[in-house]
Order: sequence, then C-alpha cells, then structure tokens
Amino acid sequence: MTVTVRAPAKINLHLGVGPGREDGYHQLATVYQAIGLYDDVTATDAGDWGVTVTVSGEIDGSQVPLDDDNIAIRAGRALAEHHGVDRCAHLAIAKSIPVAGGLAGGSADAAAALVALDRLWDLQTSDADLLALAGRLGSDVPFALLGGTAYGTGRGELVEPVADNGQWWWVVVPEGQGLSTAAVYAEYDRLGLGQTLRAPDGLFEALAEAYPEVLASELHNDLEPASLDLRPELARTKREILECGAYAALLSGSGPTWLGLAGDADHARVVAAALADTHPVVLCAPGPVAGAHVVTYA
Ligand code: ATP
Repeated sequence: MTVTVRAPAKINLHLGVGPGREDGYHQLATVYQAIGLYDDVTATDAGDWGVTVTVSGEIDGSQVPLDDDNIAIRAGRALAEHHGVDRCAHLAIAKSIPVAGGLAGGSADAAAALVALDRLWDLQTSDADLLALAGRLGSDVPFALLGGTAYGTGRGELVEPVADNGQWWWVVVPEGQGLSTAAVYAEYDRLGLGQTLRAPDGLFEALAEAYPEVLASELHNDLEPASLDLRPELARTKREILECGAYAALLSGSGPTWLGLAGDADHARVVAAALADTHPVVLCAPGPVAGAHVVTYA
C-alpha cells in the first residue's frame, strides 16, 4: 500500500522577530499563509528507513540530505516512536518547493510524512498530538499541517487560524543560491535588531477586507535588513518586482525568495512575464491553500 500526501510552501505576510530566547530561538509574532507550491511525499512500507528526492524544473536539490538528516525521515521516526510501533517506510519526495528559499519546503515534507505515515499505518493520531510532534520537528511544521492563513507565536510553532477573505495571487521569484536561516538570524542579532516584538496590528483587518492595495501596506518582514546585509544584490530583485507592477515586494521568511503581490491571476501572469526577462525562474501561486492532505491512497 502507498499513500501520497501533498503539503504547501509557506510565506510570512508578517514576520515580527523579537529578542533571542534562552533556548536559542527567537520569539516570533508571524502571520503565515500557505501558497500553491507543493511537495508530494509518497510513503510505502519498507524493511528500513529510506528517502529519495526528485525535483521539478530548475530546483536545485543537491542540498537535500538523503539519509537520517532528512526531516521527512526524522518525522517518520518520531511518529513511530510516539506510537511505539516498530515499522519503517520508504519516503519518495517530489519537490516543487525551492530548497533553502525561505519557503519551508523541508517543513512541508515533514508535515506530509507525518500525515502519510499516520494514514499508511492507520495510527489515528489526534490533531493535538500531530501538532505537538510537528512542533518538536521544526517551528514551521505545525503550520504546514494546518495550512490556510494563521497567526504563529512562540517560536512560530503555536498556530491558530486567521480569518482571510482574500484570494491572493503571488509572483514567486526564487534565487539560484539559497540562504541559511540560521545565518540570517545570526546577522539579525549582530545588527542589534529585535529589541521589541512587532505585532501584525492592521494585517488582520486587511485580510478580512481582502483588497490587495490595503494588504500591500500591511506586509512586513523584520528579517529583510539582515538578509540584505548578507546578500546586498537581493535589493535589485525587490526593485524589479515593484517596477514590474506588483503592489508590494515581500521577502519570504529568511529569504532569498521574493514575493510580488498581484491583484489577481492575470495580473500575476503579467508581472511574472515581465520579470522572466531577468530571472530564470518566476512562478505564480495563489493563497491561501490547504495544509498537508492525502492526494492518493492505493
Ligand atoms: P527553514 O525551514 O530552515 O526556514 P528554508 O525554508 O529556507 O529553511 P528548506 O527548503 O526547508 O529551506 O531547507 C533548509 C535546509 O534543510 C536545506 O538546506 C537542507 O539541508 C535541510 N533539509 C533537510 N530535509 C530537507 C527536505 N526534506 N527538504 C529540503 N531541505 C531539507
């Protein structure tokens, strides 16, 4: 039997980063949105743990580990241990989410592995237990289970759904070379940023009102100065996105992927076509979309 689960990329409509905590993480006040870029994880019973990765398009999968360091395998082992079951599986990851792009592709794979194995082995894990396991695997993993639009607190792992009446369209501009999330946070600290935690204030109202022009003025990412400090050339992409007519340009998480906010699908295609002159990969994605969900079960 095999189960395939699809899980989405995330973006942060607001990323407020507060002081570092004693456990080394930063306190976050973030608003996540799941967008229509997905990884699929297919789980099959096996005698030992194993993982394979195939990538679509221009994605560079060379940094994705093919051993126990792969977060999907860590998720599978954690689920088996939680239930005290002595079983293993092969996980085949089909990647469409750019790696190390600030889009939480690894977290999507972990969430997909949890859901796929829960179904494959008929474990019937409660939502609360699944979210708790997810939170231990990584700060963005609970949101990859939940999907939609959600407010994230703690180190990002405490998530609650947010009312979102928009059908937003994003132009996604990945960069060839990824950025290490840890390096961006270290730079953030070095610059002395994050003395106070910025709340998303007007964003909730903008999501409820659903006008892109209004949403544009409420998008915010505290990590942008740190990412630009490490990779100054990223500022050019931001300028280009705005010159090509997007309502706003937003860095996705710790970057280096940029997002352009478009008014609708047609507008997104126009902006993407203009950016394609200077960027080898430009994608269009709607949001919000569903969290990790079963797509085939055979
Ligand atoms: P983060 O989730 O740390 O914020 P990110 O969203 O920028 O990072 P990811 O695509 O999640 O980027 O990958 C970050 C790193 O995690 C990769 O460089 C890779 O070394 C490691 N990794 C482990 N498992 C996976 C996986 N299944 N898919 C992608 N990366 C993985």
